Amino acid sequence: MLIFDAHLDLAWNALDWNRNLQLPCAQIRQLEVAAGDKEKGRGCNTVSFPDLRRGKVVTFVATVLARLFRPGSIPPIQLYSQAEAAFGAAMGELHYYRGLEQQGHLRLIKDWPTLETHINAWKADENSTTLPLGCIVSMEGADAILRPDQIQEWWNAGLRIIGPCLYGVSPYGHGTGVEGGFFPAGRKLLQEMERVGMILDVTHLSDQCFDEALDLFGGRLLASHHNNRTLVPHQRQLTDEQTKKLIARGGVIGHAFDIWMIVPNYIRGVTKAEVSLERVCDHIDRVCQLAGNARHAAIGSDLDGGYGREQSPSDLDTIADLQRIPDILARRGYKTTDIESIMHANWIRFFKDAWTK
Ligand SMILES: [Zn+2]
Repeated sequence: MLIFDAHLDLAWNALDWNRNLQLPCAQIRQLEVAAGDKEKGRGCNTVSFPDLRRGKVVTFVATVLARLFRPGSIPPIQLYSQAEAAFGAAMGELHYYRGLEQQGHLRLIKDWPTLETHINAWKADENSTTLPLGCIVSMEGADAILRPDQIQEWWNAGLRIIGPCLYGVSPYGHGTGVEGGFFPAGRKLLQEMERVGMILDVTHLSDQCFDEALDLFGGRLLASHHNNRTLVPHQRQLTDEQTKKLIARGGVIGHAFDIWMIVPNYIRGVTKAEVSLERVCDHIDRVCQLAGNARHAAIGSDLDGGYGREQSPSDLDTIADLQRIPDILARRGYKTTDIESIMHANWIRFFKDAWTK
């Protein structure tokens, strides 16, 4: 079954972690082990182009990600000291995707006709070894956007989705781990996004920013990599109330495979938890129960989003193992059409609506 994954930090892995994603995961792991790289997630990556193909994950949203250092922010990943440096780094990541497109590896998808052509080509030849993988570019944390009026420039460069905040306080508002709303620049950012047709990713917004975004922003909303707060009590996850609001707005929620977001009481880097893919399906199922249908739950794996196999479900070796999800859903009584919706069709419908209506 074809899979559409709404959150992969491919450029960040390639540029900041210096991973050659053209190699299979097994070979990238060997190289990192041989280099003696002991940083978190090294030597146990789960995403590469060969493994995406093996798992038929042929369409995805891939990020540009460049964060600014701010006093008091949580510093687990690369932080830039200057906005212009973050801008340059994020544009550089966008050019990585352009380079892959020029070499025939990727098809950059910026509109419905391109997405439709891409999906039809893969449906006609699911085992193709030559068709390019499809990529919609999003920005995780808007630190690299120098001013709200720069949104148009980013749109012209190919960006189609923005998540304004990431961890802590950022130039536009409050994100994961802190509470507070949008700054005036953040409200202007939302206006500009709506004006140019940019999609808003609510993932990583603080609760107050989430509410403000739903009030202020009249465009399309999605949650790219987000699980459920009733199952994992943490501000990073969506409450049932927030989930219902997204459903009412036609939103789709991608489910993440980082195990601290799948089961409660997991402490990053401390707890050793046996968590299987079955538990991700609990989150998918909850969205379906809240919606009363299977039209709003989807995949947004976030695999290799700063962690690797050590913090992924135990029955997932690489991203190719996302192919185990359809069987789990089938055992739970999901119909084939509903499973197809969750694995790819909900995202396709979402982007068709966003780009044609
Ligand atoms: Zn994230």
